Amino acid sequence: MEVILLGTGSPMPDAKRGGPATLVKAGATQILVDAGRAVVMRLTGAGSLPIFLSGVLITHLHSDHLTDLNDVITTHYIMSQAETPLHIYGPPRTQEVVTGILASLAPDISYRLAHHPDTLWWQPKIIVTEVTPGMTFTIGEAQVLVGETNHAPVEPTVSYRIEHEGKSVVLGGDGIPCETLDAICKGADAYVQTVIRAELVGLVKNKRFLDILDYHSTVEQAAQTATRAGVKKLILTHYVPSIQPGQEEEWRALAAAHFAGEIVLGDDLTATTI
Ligand SMILES: [Zn+2]
Ligand SMILES: [Zn+2]
Repeated sequence: MEVILLGTGSPMPDAKRGGPATLVKAGATQILVDAGRAVVMRLTGAGSLPIFLSGVLITHLHSDHLTDLNDVITTHYIMSQAETPLHIYGPPRTQEVVTGILASLAPDISYRLAHHPDTLWWQPKIIVTEVTPGMTFTIGEAQVLVGETNHAPVEPTVSYRIEHEGKSVVLGGDGIPCETLDAICKGADAYVQTVIRAELVGLVKNKRFLDILDYHSTVEQAAQTATRAGVKKLILTHYVPSIQPGQEEEWRALAAAHFAGEIVLGDDLTATTI
């Protein structure tokens, strides 16, 4: 499998980092996990496109994780040469979000149907599956297990463990360490976790910003989760604050103090094979 960090940013706009999104290539199966800002642009950078996706997994319904889901849906729709379903999996209320996106796209869809009557006569076909912890399903060649995470007061939030030919990667999404996260990570070949630097966030004396401290894993906590679960490779993303040029080793050292395995972090389109 190959894991590509499409977007390593956070809700804070960043000229160089897209919002949270990760591409997992499992053989011929391509799975997008979350669809943050600039996701379609980064998909092209990874040599992919929405029409090549076998499925989209959403960890939770915070806007930074799905703000460009509309672009995934639209680009998939207008590039499909036949009526092709797009499968989206996410926690309860994902259907509500997708229905809202499709409603916002209604004028655009009507223009396209009117303009291309001979080649485009179908509406976007989005198949939403709302998932709950413990569910398992297949996407193409990959097996997916859904886990429970703690990102309170955001509920529900889920993690995903994707398995392919004996290899496994867990996408932890946002949240703080918890037993159910440890459980789904157990023995995984790789674990992708969104992280913050608490000591840097704490320097910003803005109450709304400081609120993020209580529902995100720090770099150190992500490393501790990886160690408890016996994970082989820790992949960090969704950096708050953004990693500045030359700071990569500082971030890596914070994790390495708690985890002896390989640590992957970097700019958008950082890729690693597992
Ligand atoms: Zn979140
Ligand atoms: Zn987030």
